[in-house]
Amino acid sequence: MNIQYQKGSTIAAVATPPGNGAIAIVRLSGPEAIAIAEKIFSGPVAKFRSHTAHTGQVLAADGSVIDQALLIVFCAPRSYTGEDSVEIYCHGGALVTRKVLHRVLEAGARAALPGEFSFQAFGNGKLDLAQAEAVQLLISSQNELARQSASQQLEGVLSKRIAQFQQNLTRIAAILEAWVDFPEEGLEFAPLDATIEELETIHQQILALLNTFHEGRAIHEGISLCLAGSPNVGKSSLMNALLGKNRAIVTDIPGTTRDSLEENLRLGSMHFRITDTAGICSATDPVEQEGIRRSFAAMDAADLILLVLDASRPLSDNDRQLIDELKEKRAILVWNKVDLSMPEETISWEPVVFLSAKESQGIDALKQAIDRMIWKNGMPSKEEIVLSSVRHYQALHAAADSCQAVIDGLKEGRSPEFLSFDMRSCLNHLGAIIGTNVSEDILSSIFSQFCVGK
Ligand code: GDP
Repeated sequence: MNIQYQKGSTIAAVATPPGNGAIAIVRLSGPEAIAIAEKIFSGPVAKFRSHTAHTGQVLAADGSVIDQALLIVFCAPRSYTGEDSVEIYCHGGALVTRKVLHRVLEAGARAALPGEFSFQAFGNGKLDLAQAEAVQLLISSQNELARQSASQQLEGVLSKRIAQFQQNLTRIAAILEAWVDFPEEGLEFAPLDATIEELETIHQQILALLNTFHEGRAIHEGISLCLAGSPNVGKSSLMNALLGKNRAIVTDIPGTTRDSLEENLRLGSMHFRITDTAGICSATDPVEQEGIRRSFAAMDAADLILLVLDASRPLSDNDRQLIDELKEKRAILVWNKVDLSMPEETISWEPVVFLSAKESQGIDALKQAIDRMIWKNGMPSKEEIVLSSVRHYQALHAAADSCQAVIDGLKEGRSPEFLSFDMRSCLNHLGAIIGTNVSEDILSSIFSQFCVGK
């Protein structure tokens, strides 16, 4: 959805979620915000000191009282949007809120489009684009790591890192230009080898940031974990043991799970989408066949697979086929039912976990193995920047490619004037992350994904 935001108008929206609650906030922002609030409120809004709360009544056009409310004025530029803003805290009934909003619109405000408050904040330089995107990320964060990383991005930590790259690269761009304009003196001022070395360092730093994308995605979107195995090996029992509740049906009749079941699971500070699949076997029944097709689709889509084998019986052809198929995937081999017996065979696999889903033994060891697979470099610390947006990843990737092109060009002895295109495109890609050189279309496609009132 692409929205055309109009600058300069005064916008209004309900900033709190729909439905009944104790309090709802109607928010106004723009040049007429205070004048409009003055028209609908019982007190002298234009005289209120910025950032102070005042009680009063929201009045209908005929002077009748719509609600008792609290009102705060935020004078520009000390507001979220950088424009004059007013927040009206009314009673949180859906009808009351709607009437207050309606009254504000009647008095001259325009209904805000999704993300329009943040768009104003970006336009007025209160937030750069990466920070504005962090607002939405923070609102939608579902686990502690996601909240931490979104709040860090909102503080501008990612933006600062990008600005640092830009600053260093701009200095090198100036050196390239000096080489073109003053070939002799330029090289004295900055030798070629040292400049290449400096570019390589920046390139490495960009790659290191790119490498955090896998973790960033895992933090924000959750990790998809898929349970795979032949019928009756104990996949459903393991799912229940991991969830700590009876979600999946457990029976000793093979083929009970005919479709894939999905559940959310929280382990430590992470969340997982865990899928219990239909057991893989050579079924003839069309329903079972469809279940098996879905199992393979779930395995393909999963970030991590738990391949479950039954330790109490010899491996079947099915088991061996699955072992072969999943060898190249990110998978943990789980020997289940070790309460009955240990496996007869040793399979070369890393990592392997032995457990009993029925007796809930070894579940912690499995959780630790999952943690180690997800956080190969250890769990990111609070201070570490992780890249979580596909848009940022693509822009940074393009910047790394352009940077590499400049390095290659210099090494091949190409004249610096032919490298300025790559240098400029590297700087432009970095700028796109924080919102410089970004087209209106891209901006509106980003902000239109926000909620109304944000
Ligand atoms: P699925 O078809 O792979 O989902 O397997 P289920 O979870 O439905 O389990 C099949 C049978 O194995 C059931 O009778 C379970 O009670 C049994 N089972 C599952 N895990 C264990 C275990 O760790 N030990 C023992 N002894 N039996 C288990």
